[in-house]
Amino acid sequence: MTQVIARLPAIPGHEPDDGFYLCLFCGPPPQGGPVMATLMVGDLAPAARGSVTLTGPSAADPLRVDLGFYREPGDLRRMREAYRHAWTLARHPAFAATVEAVPAPGEDGELEERLRATTFSRLALTGGAAMGPEGAPGAVVGEDCRVHGIEGLRVADLSIVPVALRSPTALDAMMIGEHVAALILAR
Ligand SMILES: Cc1cc2nc3c(=O)[nH]c(=O)nc-3n(C[C@H](O)[C@H](O)[C@H](O)COP(=O)(O)OP(=O)(O)OC[C@H]3O[C@@H](n4cnc5c(N)ncnc54)[C@H](O)[C@@H]3O)c2cc1C
Repeated sequence: MTQVIARLPAIPGHEPDDGFYLCLFCGPPPQGGPVMATLMVGDLAPAARGSVTLTGPSAADPLRVDLGFYREPGDLRRMREAYRHAWTLARHPAFAATVEAVPAPGEDGELEERLRATTFSRLALTGGAAMGPEGAPGAVVGEDCRVHGIEGLRVADLSIVPVALRSPTALDAMMIGEHVAALILAR
């Protein structure tokens, strides 16, 4: 009733990569007040990679999570174009009856500032304990999800996925859990 998602095959002006989604939410803002429509723009194929690093030797030491947004300049260019495309859609006559005003994207610099200030994660993080051959850079688990170099330990969650997924991730997480459970039972 309140959320519509569209997936486009490409960010306008870029090679097709299934990386662009639009999400329309309608409802009152969390703090109350009149109903608002929010159009969210997402890039599921960013070139930049973040990192998760230990800050100390103890399990109680917090992890340092760096999402690495816009570290690759091409990502910012893609998002600017995606944002402007979303803006064009939001001004379509079909929305005119219900949407009073749509703030303009502005010049590149202004838009960049807005994007840097408002971009957030879709909470579908992957790759913290990536799968790969033993000795390969960043590889933590092998193809059977066993941790390289540690006897009797497997990882069975999204952290083993070595790439960013271009879809919501819950089903992948369930699939990995079921697959590894079957592997363990088959031993
Ligand atoms: C707010 C939010 C909304 C989301 N919405 C969607 C959605 O609409 N659709 C969708 O597909 N996906 C959605 N996701 C993403 C999806 O929920 C996650 O990708 C998925 O749950 C990840 O599963 P996981 O098993 O890899 O990790 P998690 O679900 O994070 O499970 C990891 C588990 O490990 C436990 N753990 C951590 N450290 C230790 C330790 N040292 N010892 C023992 N246990 C430990 C944690 O307590 C946790 O239970 C959303 C995520 C969030 C946060």
